[in-house]
Amino acid sequence: MRRCNGARRPGSLSSTIAQPAAVTAADATTAADVAATTIGPAAADVAGATDVAAAAVSAAAATPASAARAQCPYCGVGCGLELKPPAADADPAWTARGDRHHPSSHGQVCIKGATVGETLHHNRLTTPLWRERLDQPFAPIPWDRAFDLLVQRIRATLASQGPDGLAIYGSGQFLSEDYYVANKLLKGALGSNNFDANSRLCMSSAVAGYTRSLGSDGPPCCYDDLDLADLVLLIGTNTADCHPVLFQRLLKRKRKCKEALRLVVVDPRHTATAEAADLHLPIRPGTDLVLLCGVGHLLLELQALDQPFIAAHTEGYAALEALWRRWTPPRVSDLCGIAEADLRLLARWWAEAAGVLSLWSMGVNQSREGTATVAGIINLHLVSGQIGRPGAGPFSLTGQPNAMGGREVGGLAQLLPGYRSVANPQHRAEVERHWGFAPGSIAPEPGLAVWEQIEAMERGELGLWWVAATNPLVSMPSLDRVRAAAARCPLVVLSEAYAGTETAAVAHLLLPAAQWSEKSGVMTNSERRVTLCPAFREPPGEARPDWAIFAELGRRLGFVPQFSYGSAAEVYAEFTALTAGRLCDLSGLSHALLAEHGPQQWPFPAGTAPGGGQPRLYGPETPWPGAAPGQRFPTASGRARLLAEPPLGLAEPPCAVYPLVLTVGRYLGHWHTMTRTAHVARVVKQHPGPLLEVNPEDADRHGLVDGEEAEVSSRRGSLTARVQVSARIRPGTVFLPMHWGASQPEACEANRLMHEQACDHSKQPELKAAAVRVRPAAGGTAAASS
Ligand code: SF4
Repeated sequence: MRRCNGARRPGSLSSTIAQPAAVTAADATTAADVAATTIGPAAADVAGATDVAAAAVSAAAATPASAARAQCPYCGVGCGLELKPPAADADPAWTARGDRHHPSSHGQVCIKGATVGETLHHNRLTTPLWRERLDQPFAPIPWDRAFDLLVQRIRATLASQGPDGLAIYGSGQFLSEDYYVANKLLKGALGSNNFDANSRLCMSSAVAGYTRSLGSDGPPCCYDDLDLADLVLLIGTNTADCHPVLFQRLLKRKRKCKEALRLVVVDPRHTATAEAADLHLPIRPGTDLVLLCGVGHLLLELQALDQPFIAAHTEGYAALEALWRRWTPPRVSDLCGIAEADLRLLARWWAEAAGVLSLWSMGVNQSREGTATVAGIINLHLVSGQIGRPGAGPFSLTGQPNAMGGREVGGLAQLLPGYRSVANPQHRAEVERHWGFAPGSIAPEPGLAVWEQIEAMERGELGLWWVAATNPLVSMPSLDRVRAAAARCPLVVLSEAYAGTETAAVAHLLLPAAQWSEKSGVMTNSERRVTLCPAFREPPGEARPDWAIFAELGRRLGFVPQFSYGSAAEVYAEFTALTAGRLCDLSGLSHALLAEHGPQQWPFPAGTAPGGGQPRLYGPETPWPGAAPGQRFPTASGRARLLAEPPLGLAEPPCAVYPLVLTVGRYLGHWHTMTRTAHVARVVKQHPGPLLEVNPEDADRHGLVDGEEAEVSSRRGSLTARVQVSARIRPGTVFLPMHWGASQPEACEANRLMHEQACDHSKQPELKAAAVRVRPAAGGTAAASS
């Protein structure tokens, strides 16, 4: 493919990127961090330890308002923001703009990041609230009483049900410090691995896929690769709406020189992403892996494999070739519902490209074969040697701002900090030692993933379900089951920044959480870049950082030495020390270094110079720091695994009763369950309500009229939504956004219709597809056509 003048060549970019300007200590150091140096962590007794934490937290609250830099708290792109305090007391809104010094985003920002300062003060929880029963109103209680209740109920649950009766469901909105302390409390102190996070719904298939194929989690690529690839395959990602700054980076390059970059989009919808594509493949939902096998078949036919790479660095090739031989182009085009010529074009472009970059997100991950599909993407990169070099590789785009940080600290039920596994005895022993718990404290079995937590509540097996920084009563599949299960749990705790979320309806105890901007900590974005997010606003009322809540509870449960942190910086230092020698080695990072030198990419072992983190993994020279000679991938053999897994298709395919496939997704301006973005007038104006996209053929067949209400039903329930007849969606498929929960005026609980069947490996539910029936809503003016 022709390169335009000025296009960067592989290997040339990292040296041309401007290093971030130093962030001043005044901008980035919080009073809580200062407290770490002035208030010692040791505490003689529980009450004293509580005072230490309270002093540190209130010190953070006393920080005077001044400009700050932080990572955007919305999506996994992790753009840098500059934040300016309100000009007048009457308007508490902060102003946000792109931070041109942030090396991941270079000053770019989307509408969500640009308006985040307008959202932070609305509708906040300011004091703990309690009710014994769900049919009672909440009443304010002091923090002391809230902790007493928690200690008493946790002890009672341990006595009656054991550690497995406790579960926490956390969030990719957590800072790494929140994640770390919550995991230490549940997995280390209380002996339950039932800590899961909403990342389970978002990218656990990417975690499982990377780990199975390459030997470890951690995307091998970086954003500079967007500027270097010849071919970018966007599969299962509406990047234009969900990762807009990365999409704009691709578009900018394409505008500069159309021939330098080919964009291929695989999506049943003709999204804004597809609009910009050189080739759009609107496959049937559930056929991604079929398509990937078809591309593999054609790479064989084109003799476009990198045989030396396969021989030197992979295992399992013979079985994969046998699988691919069976997926002939006519069979693939028939099942995917696309032209054979388009399939052949994609394979030819792949074979011709000097650098192929594959980007994916929830369209791939939220599937009962999500992990196999991730392996299907990685297989293609491995057999063509398109990995471990500039402009090439399989690159998962994380949904949430700190889902990557969650992976680092072990924030899923099967993980421990530093990309360790609870099932590995050596890993457990290392973590127990570091945490200061007795050998055997960490249970040897993976804990309950979030849907398993729901099932455990249905069976009456959970005594306490603690939800933090997430809103599962909108985001989970099969919402009626989730509601009913939570209502059976004797104690549901919700730590939340905002009042009135849908999940509060099933909670007994609400704990006011300080959110991003009100507490100090770090986040890691999709390209493994870590940014310090300082506290630059005061938390409202009695709100506290999540890590401080978990730490105080740990001390009150008797684990005083393990949870006597004086600051978030101290928590982070303990965590990063635990990553030394691991693939995600962060041991050279600290709050102080990040404050002084700006965001850094990992691996970043102790002694690494600022800016010296590693942008790519699995390259020929340094696959990762500390790799054994000749080892290219962190598997037992040093070789990547080619996995031959036949496609399964949808768990719930359409049928005579439910003849359409409902797929759900996001709008550009809104974030998840709208606790923040519902307060931004510009966003609400842009997206006033949810629309059911229906192809004109289906509208005719089912008697649906543009602008009128339709009833959408699945095996789990029904809802009504306004119809938007559009050729953007392929026939046989309808689309709804997932943002509008039960508490919104335009309520439309799309996930109520979705099912919970999940990938066997990742336990990520297939939130992207369910069989539905659509007909005009009762009382509507439309009549079914004959
Ligand atoms: Fe924030 Fe993502 Fe938008 Fe960047 S692209 S400003 S990280 S929401």
